[in-house]
Amino acid sequence: MQLNHSDLFRQQAYIGGQWLDANDKSVVEITNPATGEVIGCVPQMGEAETLSAITHAHHAWDAWKKQSAKSRAVILRKWYELIMANQDDLATLLTCEQGKPFDEAKGEVAYGASYIEWFAEETKRIYGDVIPGHLPDKRVVVIKQGIGVVGAITPWNFPNAMITRKAAPAMGAGCPFIVKPAPDTPFSALALAVLAEEAGIPAGIFSVITGDAKAIGGVLTGHEKVRKISFTGSTAVGKQLMRQCADSVKKVSLELGGNAPFIVFDDADVDAAVAGAIISKFRNAGQTCVCANRIYVQAGIHDAFVEKFAQKIQSLNVGNGLDSGVQIGPLINQAAVDKVKQHLDDALDKGAKLVTGGTVNELGGTFLTPTLLTQVNASMQVAQEETFGPLAPIFQFTSEAEVIEMANDTPFGLAAYFYARDLGRVWRVAEAIEAGMVGVNTGLISTEVAPFGGIKESGIGREGSKYGMDDFVEIKYICMDIN
Ligand code: ADP
Repeated sequence: MQLNHSDLFRQQAYIGGQWLDANDKSVVEITNPATGEVIGCVPQMGEAETLSAITHAHHAWDAWKKQSAKSRAVILRKWYELIMANQDDLATLLTCEQGKPFDEAKGEVAYGASYIEWFAEETKRIYGDVIPGHLPDKRVVVIKQGIGVVGAITPWNFPNAMITRKAAPAMGAGCPFIVKPAPDTPFSALALAVLAEEAGIPAGIFSVITGDAKAIGGVLTGHEKVRKISFTGSTAVGKQLMRQCADSVKKVSLELGGNAPFIVFDDADVDAAVAGAIISKFRNAGQTCVCANRIYVQAGIHDAFVEKFAQKIQSLNVGNGLDSGVQIGPLINQAAVDKVKQHLDDALDKGAKLVTGGTVNELGGTFLTPTLLTQVNASMQVAQEETFGPLAPIFQFTSEAEVIEMANDTPFGLAAYFYARDLGRVWRVAEAIEAGMVGVNTGLISTEVAPFGGIKESGIGREGSKYGMDDFVEIKYICMDIN
């Protein structure tokens, strides 16, 4: 791995402003999913180190929250600038540990940094309210204050951005922040800590703890001094963490799984819909929670869409993300490959038709060939669960009412997409779809200026936008008697 700033590659955790090994010195190896090679090791920490991180965070809280908002904003802005100045190195680290193409990794670093820039600005606008008093001698004021120590648990599919979009609003609101990154992708998190330190974020305000997920998660969710848990990952783990938070009544934000419908109506622009489906389905090799999972195409446009979509899929270049021109990297691990294969076999067994792909990729390992299925129906696993891989299933439908019913027939409600030109239909469908985010004639919806989040079993809370700060503050009402 070639880095300009070799200091960004750290094999220790960062707790209370110090770079540390595990108490018992144990480590775990991290491999590159494209080559299977060991990149390095990180400490295998557990309960004791997590308790220490919480103690450091709690001690650091008072001074941090008493800084002016502008002072915290200046430090966050500096962190943003350092990240952008090291964009290439951070992207190299990200591709090596996660597998996504280098250009996509650069895009993620910029996307992740954009949340820090945004919340550096929002930090100065955590406004309260003055409410007309309920009695002549009473005055009512509302202030918003940082909630306290925040614990975050993040996934491997966006090793950089899933951290920054939690850390920036938390620290902007005056909260100390402790993150446990995904076990597969700790190096991006540790590199962020190097730059946080360089930016002047005080010791204890940004900590990264690597190791045993259950042990670290157990302490973070159970500890009374941690006042908020922000999690991105699977619905099953999210539910478990929410249960664990119940005993100490913690505020939780959960960004969980999706099962995004992508609907193409007869009046859609086919080329635009194909381009949108490619980006929405195949970004990060299909491993994003907002990836199109079920593609519904209306009968009148079905064959034309399938033909063009298949052509584009066949032209996707699979390979090591560090090689130029690669659009699809490896999947994160063998379990991810097995899930995609199981969904494919299940669909083929139940009568789906293979249009392109379907076989193991010639590169071996965890590389998969982008695959297209038609004649898919609701009985198949691809309809019910998130595939999280480069497999696109197409369902044919006839009426608007039918497709809305099918699209909403899931416990999930994160992202949804549709392509249509009729203005009345655009409004009707956008309102009827049960999802936290809807892309109309676009397959890309993520931006720091908009509220990202889901409904139903896809989650609680919103990240980014003017709403994102709310998840890290408490409202306090002050009643004053003027006598
Ligand atoms: P994914 O399918 O993205 O791997 P997970 O929900 O398994 O989804 O993982 C997301 C994050 O949750 C990772 O950082 C993982 O280590 C962490 N995690 C998994 N199980 C637990 C648990 N029992 N307690 C705390 N964190 C967990």
